Amino acid sequence: MKQSTANKKNGTGKTGTASKNSKITATNSADGSTMMPVGKSNKGKENEPKREKGSAPLEKFFIDSLKDIYYAEQKLTTAIPKMEEAATTEELKEAFNDHLHQTQKQVKRLEKVFNLVGKKAEGKKCEAIEGIIKEAESIIEETEEGTMTRDAALIIAAQKVEHYEIATYGGLVQLALTMDLKEVADILDTTLMEEEDTDHKLTEIAEAHINMEAEHEGANYSWDKSSEF
Ligand code: FE
Ligand code: FE
Ligand code: FE
Repeated sequence: MKQSTANKKNGTGKTGTASKNSKITATNSADGSTMMPVGKSNKGKENEPKREKGSAPLEKFFIDSLKDIYYAEQKLTTAIPKMEEAATTEELKEAFNDHLHQTQKQVKRLEKVFNLVGKKAEGKKCEAIEGIIKEAESIIEETEEGTMTRDAALIIAAQKVEHYEIATYGGLVQLALTMDLKEVADILDTTLMEEEDTDHKLTEIAEAHINMEAEHEGANYSWDKSSEF
């Protein structure tokens, strides 16, 4: 699993940049023509009105996405300790604690990224993370304290967070490369790898024993298991 992450990092090199660049350029011109009727004729750039610096639609989207994930990471610095406290096994508590420290660093990293692109670090409400965190909270309410079932459920809740982050950082790394923000891409890629490692680690913990032990908590299933196992 870690191997593929490493490959991915190498994949953010020049080859990836080149191929993504051409794609994005095409997207931009399509966007440009919808938004700017002048450009629709698409002949003679001299007819296009001069755009202000920083007015590129992709830049706006990129910055908004940074604000979204900045908000999310900050929220997570308070949500992860609650999950740690609710967890049953030391192993899962430790995994949450490790990731809490990474998350705190990720917040700082995003501040550095804002700085590099000359923008103020600020959050923009991320409805998705609000929802995913709410779901984790109800899982804590709906599972019994001290059980392996709670840990099995908490792992899935935590992986929903990681997957949201992986989708965000994965996309942002590629956009940063596309827009020639190499240093920004590297910083975001560091975080992306941490999210991927965390996701894999959670899978390992679940599959090593937590799921099986949760399965043994109370033998009364609605279905007949005897023929299956
Ligand atoms: Fe994170
Ligand atoms: Fe979001
Ligand atoms: Fe994370």
